[in-house]
Amino acid sequence: GSGRASAAPAAEADLSGVRLTHPERVLWEEGGVTKQGLADFYADIAAWALPHLVNRPLSLVRCPNGAGKQCFFQKHRWEGLSPDIRFVDVGDAEPMTFIEDLRGLLGLVQAGVLEIHPWGSTIADIEKPDRIIFDLDPGDDVSWSQVIDGALEVRQRLGRDGLESFVKTSGGKGLHVVAPLTPLADWETVKDYTRGVVEAMETDAPSLYVANMAKRLRKGRIFVDYLRNGRGATAVAAFSTRARDGAPVSTPLAWDELSEALKADHFRIGNLRQRLDFLAADPWDGFFDLRQTLPKAAGRKSRKK
Ligand code: ATP
Ligand code: MN
Ligand code: MN
Repeated sequence: GSGRASAAPAAEADLSGVRLTHPERVLWEEGGVTKQGLADFYADIAAWALPHLVNRPLSLVRCPNGAGKQCFFQKHRWEGLSPDIRFVDVGDAEPMTFIEDLRGLLGLVQAGVLEIHPWGSTIADIEKPDRIIFDLDPGDDVSWSQVIDGALEVRQRLGRDGLESFVKTSGGKGLHVVAPLTPLADWETVKDYTRGVVEAMETDAPSLYVANMAKRLRKGRIFVDYLRNGRGATAVAAFSTRARDGAPVSTPLAWDELSEALKADHFRIGNLRQRLDFLAADPWDGFFDLRQTLPKAAGRKSRKK
């Protein structure tokens, strides 16, 4: 069992009372995952998933007719939402949504949400990010071992700055490296710091890494996307499903699990529970307890520009 399981909210009790329309609707053809199946999946892994999902502004990928059909990003509140879904004013014309608990998460399932993309800050202080994320996007003809090396390279550079980091599969093609932060610095400072890390990677190994998002520069290289660290930018949450074939899930890994055999879409609704059952320890042990901040120079560097 996991260390986290003891702190588990009472998932089963909460599931009753959340009504799903069209529970039999197939959302992922491959694997035959229905809307009810998605609700059951989240209820089952709630203790693992909720800490990553609650109390943050959310961008949502909605696919009312399933993963292979038309999907759209939804950033703001809309009509007909479950009363379990909350709203937060981020300064836009319309408020954004957030959730507080499993009922809110199941409210998202009811609304046809197949991907959950939180901000890197919480509603307690939306102007102070409490994490940074590096989104490794391999260009064509980049090998998986090169992607792994890229994630390890980010980890090593953050480590030199005193930051412990964690890795997850994206559920798509790449890896995400995440470091929790004590929310002290503002968005600009944090984004500038992450850009500096990636620009240094490109300077030191231009044949491997690129800091510019232009697709044409990616051939044979990894775009290490630091733009996820801007105010209002998002990245898919740990334990969110993806609206892609096979119902993949963005899954936290221990660093020593990275391997040739374990690709970005390895874990999915159909096998994640089994993974969690067999884990000896939380692969992100310590993630929510770390107190760490950007190196002192980060703020000064950013103000010079
Ligand atoms: P992959 O490993 O396949 O790259 P990914 O989730 O990292 O999966 P990206 O295309 O790299 O996918 O996007 C990174 C993040 O940028 C997404 O997780 C999402 O939060 C955000 N994003 C991407 N496209 C959009 C969009 N059209 N609207 C809003 N946010 C987006
Ligand atoms: Mn990516
Ligand atoms: Mn990206």
